[in-house]
Amino acid sequence: MNQSVDLIVIGGGATGAGIALDAALRGLKVTLFEQNDFGEGTSSRSTKLVHGGVRYLEAAVKHLDLEQWKLVHEGLRERKTFLRNAAHLAHPIELITPLYKWYELPYVYAGLFLYDLISGRATLGRSRLLSAKTALKRNRAIDPDHLKGAVSYFDGAFNDARMVIALIQSAEAAGAHVHNHHAVTELVKDPEGRITGVRVHDTLAGTDTQYAATAVINATGPFTDTIRHLDDPDAPPLVETSSGIHIVLPARFLPSPLGVMIPKTSDGRLLFALPYQGHCLVGTTDQPAALDEHPPVTGEEVDFLLEHLNHYFALKATRDDILATFSGLRPLIASGDHGSTATLVRESEYITSPSGLLTVAGGKWTSYRAMAEKAIDCLLAAHPDLTQTHPCTTADTPVIGSRASREVVMKQLADQGLARQAEHLYAHYGDQSVFIEHHARSPNDLKPLLSDPPITRAEIRYTIQKEYVRKPLDFLVRRSGLGLVEREKALTLLPEVLELMNEELSWNRVSRKSMENEAKQLLSTSI
Ligand SMILES: Cc1cc2nc3c(=O)[nH]c(=O)nc-3n(C[C@H](O)[C@H](O)[C@H](O)COP(=O)(O)OP(=O)(O)OC[C@H]3O[C@@H](n4cnc5c(N)ncnc54)[C@H](O)[C@@H]3O)c2cc1C
Repeated sequence: MNQSVDLIVIGGGATGAGIALDAALRGLKVTLFEQNDFGEGTSSRSTKLVHGGVRYLEAAVKHLDLEQWKLVHEGLRERKTFLRNAAHLAHPIELITPLYKWYELPYVYAGLFLYDLISGRATLGRSRLLSAKTALKRNRAIDPDHLKGAVSYFDGAFNDARMVIALIQSAEAAGAHVHNHHAVTELVKDPEGRITGVRVHDTLAGTDTQYAATAVINATGPFTDTIRHLDDPDAPPLVETSSGIHIVLPARFLPSPLGVMIPKTSDGRLLFALPYQGHCLVGTTDQPAALDEHPPVTGEEVDFLLEHLNHYFALKATRDDILATFSGLRPLIASGDHGSTATLVRESEYITSPSGLLTVAGGKWTSYRAMAEKAIDCLLAAHPDLTQTHPCTTADTPVIGSRASREVVMKQLADQGLARQAEHLYAHYGDQSVFIEHHARSPNDLKPLLSDPPITRAEIRYTIQKEYVRKPLDFLVRRSGLGLVEREKALTLLPEVLELMNEELSWNRVSRKSMENEAKQLLSTSI
């Protein structure tokens, strides 16, 4: 048994990483375990919007629902904090809603005007009513036929997979121990039935170890009930999973820095087309789905997105235009009677079981920080034997990467002779970009391996040494983001990544081959 810590966090997505950071900053001894890679679950497969929730606002108004109001208000407050504390990964984005019926203009504008009002000082810019001509000038993607006008509004956009790493690194810098590719397989209990630790399987080394802790938090997103059942096989289900897919199209489908919000799909939801990593990201769907580490993308869901997009976009897309697809599972709080998962409120829950397991479930990316704060407050209330040495400071703590200004970093990169890669490096690593040069073993390591994105060997080495890369897709999908937007290019880079990982991690021939096979298989099916 390892030395006991105050808190073990199970799950290294937005929720678990946020909790580990909050707890470590409050002076608790924390260890986090993630069964796959950090962010490999839902947290790298979102729409990548930092938002108050335009959808919840409509429900709040229509049903005079106070809970939905509170959700929007909290989301908008957290949006501002998020953008401030992760400035290298998150930025405001203007979105245009094209409207083809006159009566929709005042309705949609009134809703978005209300969104601004609730934002108050957290506003990112005022919503505006646009004529059809102005809308087309601002965003050429929109289908001009019968366009009556549009409404523009602002939200935030961010790189979700990189944000998990920034949180994990920040937690580690604050004293937390973090382990990816370590699955919690058992909750260890004392004779009174209180949890005293966990049993963990190192999925790469194949070893099992027991870790002791005063408290354990279950932050496993869609897997919430799997851990709850380790604690109590009769625990009622807390979470329902629904899948949401995204497709990625070439930039010619969205030749604008502005996104598009499609106000109503045939199943009554919103759809987004956003500029992302030089491409056009389109999503999402909402289908009840089974628990799966790599949920499949069905042809039906792809056609649903294409059909709606083509209704609103000038250039019509087909399946052949798609560069990549991915699916994520929403960890929605189960509510007894409901028709479809699209009507569930994305509320979060904090439940302490009789054995002391605190389960934190639901929520949305935007509110990860507020969820973490509530979780640690709950934990401390339930454990008088744990004391914080500092109050919660996450609202005022920039994440690793956002602690120096863009200007300073860009200048340093130019001084290092990395001007060509500077935009790419800053957008991924923020102020940590300046350390990448130190990981070059020869001048060759600083030459881009691809023309776009200009990834270098030094960057790959850096992520292995500093960003917990242990499998090829940890780099290809989540650190660089390449596999999320361009599958073919990710496959092209795979041999180079394997070679460097082999060098850095001293693999044997068998593990190299199995890493290669797994990466190829996931890149050709569901990442
Ligand atoms: C399609 C889609 C689009 C979305 N878009 C947005 C958006 O634009 N903006 C927004 O704010 N929110 C959005 N969300 C919601 C947001 O992505 C999620 O609420 C959030 O990512 C959930 O994070 P999580 O950490 O709870 O879950 P996850 O990211 O799934 O993390 C849980 C982790 O626990 C790990 N785990 C499970 N079992 C074990 C075990 N036994 N041992 C160790 N680790 C384990 C898993 O491997 C996983 O990595 C979207 C969600 C979906 C599905």
